[in-house]
Amino acid sequence: MERKLIVASKNNGKIKEIKKILDGLPFEIISMKDAGFDLDIIEDGATFEENAMLKAQALFNVVNNMVIADDSGLEIDFLNGAPGVFTSRFAGESTEQSVKNKKILYLLKDVEPRYRKARFVCSIAFVSENIKFTVTGSLDGQISEKPEGDNGFGYDPIFYVPEYRKTFAELPESIKNKISHRAIALQKLRNELDKIFFR
Ligand code: IMP
Repeated sequence: MERKLIVASKNNGKIKEIKKILDGLPFEIISMKDAGFDLDIIEDGATFEENAMLKAQALFNVVNNMVIADDSGLEIDFLNGAPGVFTSRFAGESTEQSVKNKKILYLLKDVEPRYRKARFVCSIAFVSENIKFTVTGSLDGQISEKPEGDNGFGYDPIFYVPEYRKTFAELPESIKNKISHRAIALQKLRNELDKIFFR
């Protein structure tokens, strides 16, 4: 029977993406919900790495099985890196996303494109009995002048990727999933796991 790798997420889209990138590794990837666990973990770390590790360690303590957890967010240079680790709580956890996007556009009102630099960051932590590590991926872009596009979720409509001249929300999912902060972090995770399991 294959070993299980339990993912500290309830988001099916994320689980699907993780399964795709980690395909071929010798374990079955399952969400914590499918493993029969539900945990609400307080994310009070100062960095994405710390938060990812907090979540992974908390889940590991309960399931006693290999786990991964991720934490991601948006850093905007003009706002000195905010919202950063507070991205999901920015303007209030339950505030509608379109309102959060408008608030960011308002905070950057009349700011020239060259000062609108931002990046999406994703850290993933792996915890097993003997091994613990984090990997981080990021993608540079800039905050658009107005929301554009209907794909994706979250801050996608206001995150402009200069290389494609489109916001994340204008890009097809297949492209976003190749270039995103999460894709980069997952690829790094895959490289580390390849070393560990196929050494
Ligand atoms: P989480 O760590 O995946 O829960 O994400 C934290 C926050 O960052 C949430 O507010 C998400 O909406 C936002 N976020 C993370 N990744 C993305 C993305 O790929 N596009 C848009 N927003 C994102």
